Amino acid sequence: MKTATSHPQTSLRGTKSTRIIKPAGHGNGHSGKESSAPAITPALAAWLAKPKQNLIDGKWVPAVSGKTFEVFNPANDSVIAHVAEGELEDINRAVSAARRAFDSGPWRRMTPSERGKVVWRIGDLILRHADELAELESIDNGKPRAVARAADVPLAADLFHYMAGWATKIEGHTIPISVPYAPGATFHAFTLREPVGVVGQIIPWNFPLLMAAWKLGPALATGNCVVLKPAEQTPLSALRLGELLIEAGVPDGVVNIVTGFGETAGAALAAHDEVDKIAFTGSTEVGKIIVRAAAGNLKKVSLELGGKSPNIIFKDAADLGAAINGAASAIFFNHGQCCCAGSRLLVEGDIFDTVVSGVAAQAKKIKLGPGLSADTEMGPLVSREQLQRVTGYMRQGKEAGACYVTGGERKRGEGYFVEPTVIKDVTPNMSIVREEIFGPVVVAEAFTDADELISRANHTEYGLAAGVWTRDIAKAHRIASALRAGTVWVNCYNIFDAALPFGGYKQSGWGREMGHEVLNLYTQTKAVVCGL
Ligand code: NDP
Repeated sequence: MKTATSHPQTSLRGTKSTRIIKPAGHGNGHSGKESSAPAITPALAAWLAKPKQNLIDGKWVPAVSGKTFEVFNPANDSVIAHVAEGELEDINRAVSAARRAFDSGPWRRMTPSERGKVVWRIGDLILRHADELAELESIDNGKPRAVARAADVPLAADLFHYMAGWATKIEGHTIPISVPYAPGATFHAFTLREPVGVVGQIIPWNFPLLMAAWKLGPALATGNCVVLKPAEQTPLSALRLGELLIEAGVPDGVVNIVTGFGETAGAALAAHDEVDKIAFTGSTEVGKIIVRAAAGNLKKVSLELGGKSPNIIFKDAADLGAAINGAASAIFFNHGQCCCAGSRLLVEGDIFDTVVSGVAAQAKKIKLGPGLSADTEMGPLVSREQLQRVTGYMRQGKEAGACYVTGGERKRGEGYFVEPTVIKDVTPNMSIVREEIFGPVVVAEAFTDADELISRANHTEYGLAAGVWTRDIAKAHRIASALRAGTVWVNCYNIFDAALPFGGYKQSGWGREMGHEVLNLYTQTKAVVCGL
């Protein structure tokens, strides 16, 4: 979260020296110090060089104040773009455009089939521009381009394709009613499922394009109009997506995109009286701020928040090697910047040392580097702020007496890199055990007793996800049932699909995204009763 305001062409981070990336064919692609990061492609460099404005009512417009802020490549601290710094008045204009589009625009008059086709085309366009989007995501967020190309981008496209099919299947029910106080009267009663209206969507930086897809796909399929605020660290793929939405035929005002900071643009959106629903993904701390802000007009709220997910390995795991690989990938995928990261590794005592040294060996092998390098397996953390947060937790763990099996340090040199880290000898009260670190840092604990295991696994304010590794199918079901988490993966981890609902128990959130369950978040039920 940010606490200060920024100024034209500067940002909160604008006090440090910055370097501008140049396209391929311009020396090493950087000014200033030497960098090992490969240059970006000329086409993307040309796109980045164009003004990055807000999308309001189908037009790209500068912030009302004229202010912009810098976007950084976390691999080398260079400035890759300046984007509009939207604030209250920009949000007001975006909400008005969405309101007009919802109340009187063509979107709601369009047949479900036509609307579904528009949503489908968005998925097609994402696939057509997959390489470009993967590169953009890589330089904006830091993740390896190959990972973005294999996971983020196709999953985003698949989400739109999946949701497109729902546009024609938003159905109510006919309901036989008795009405005891009206003897002899007959009625035809049924329900309609209608869009909620104007939806504010606030998304985080860990999967910028995919989170935009998770939010926009169901909102559009169900006929809502949207104001989207991307994270300040990673606004670029949402802006490119905005261009693709226009190309796909999304009518003016149906999707408005305002880049800016949480405390200004985000807060204005969450509190806006003309917004009917707010959908948020991010920290539990800000989730609570959103709930308070939404109270003004009692807008509907859905939240996908933090996690401290237990990943449990029993000694009867069918394939211990697969479990070790799974545990490593559960925490190190996306540099641990996943709300569902398997950040607490609970291992049955007899195999504890084997598993911990196996995960540590995997950690040591991970090749850190800029996302655009072909051999990079883990990129930098997203921002300087996140680097400070993660290294702060690493320091706290050391001061509390935990044992670092591997990692525990920032990688020297440019960029926001930290070492993949495995920690043991922890106690339940340590901050590294209780709090979401959101970095490649796993704490490992041994267990012996299955009953005690469940209470330990559930001993967290969060309840987003969990993993269980065992060949005993009955035990797997018992544990899955006992875990208080919105997703339980058995003999696998991080398996996502557009058809599978995702969301949290406890303080990990309200509501479920994806699958047909998400339709409940974006529709409301109207009961109609006709006297016959
Ligand atoms: P935040 O929760 O602050 O950010 C998420 C989104 O909310 C961003 O778009 C942010 O804007 C916006 N926002 C921030 N403050 C407000 C506000 N007062 N009103 C409305 N919107 C607001 O996460 P951070 O980026 O600060 O990351 C901090 C921690 O949050 C991470 O270390 C991690 O633990 C957790 N997190 C969890 C995620 C998840 O997927 N569940 C994703 C990201 C972070 P802006 O970008 O300007 O801050």
